[in-house]
Amino acid sequence: MRLQLATWPEVTDYLTTRRGVILPIGSTEQHGPSALVGTDAITAETVAWEVGEALNVYVAPTMAVGMAHHHMAFAGSMTLRPSTMIAMIRDYVVSLSAHGFRRFLFINGHGGNIPTIQSAFYEIYEEQRATHGADAPDIQCGLVNWFNSPPVVEAARRYFGDAEGGHATPSEVAVTWHAYPDQIRDVPLDPPVAPEGRFTDWRSLRANFPDGRMGSNPALATRELGTEFVALARDHIVKTQADFLAG
Ligand SMILES: [Zn+2]
Repeated sequence: MRLQLATWPEVTDYLTTRRGVILPIGSTEQHGPSALVGTDAITAETVAWEVGEALNVYVAPTMAVGMAHHHMAFAGSMTLRPSTMIAMIRDYVVSLSAHGFRRFLFINGHGGNIPTIQSAFYEIYEEQRATHGADAPDIQCGLVNWFNSPPVVEAARRYFGDAEGGHATPSEVAVTWHAYPDQIRDVPLDPPVAPEGRFTDWRSLRANFPDGRMGSNPALATRELGTEFVALARDHIVKTQADFLAG
């Protein structure tokens, strides 16, 4: 159930019995020479929409740009400063809370977003406490990283072994192929499995990972596996987050 495809009377009616909302959050950043710049936003919203359908919970508009400073040496990447991202998350939550939403489940597609999302939650909680004290509305925010769901991690290891890697992974690429089968690229990857290593900032990431991949071979992705990963993530999130969303 997508909030953008609802009318305001429908949302009003929903809020008479429900208080939960799902917020997909991703990134717009390079994913190596063969995968889409929108991968992390596409995967987050693909999983989020399925969870929303399964639980009859509204899914807010996707936050499609995240904290991707470290990818900025590659064309097409976009980033928010952490402070901007915290302000954006705060405004999404406070807007929706004005109408009665109280449980905010963020389904995230980008590891680089995690510290900022967690900081945003405490920014919101502390603002509410400082402004309203004991009368503050009972706003609770939760975070799930779909790619870290144990069934997804287990399946990725079984299908791809070490070639799952850490960025432009075959599991996330497979999910984009499930979502957009007309956007599958056949690009030669050299070497097939990208190097492992470390980085600190945008320059060192480009120096250590020349084509943008990290330890992965996204050519192992298939559309069918993407469908399976979405189902595994959906079922895990439904099972573990239904009570939270029901508030
Ligand atoms: Zn990604």
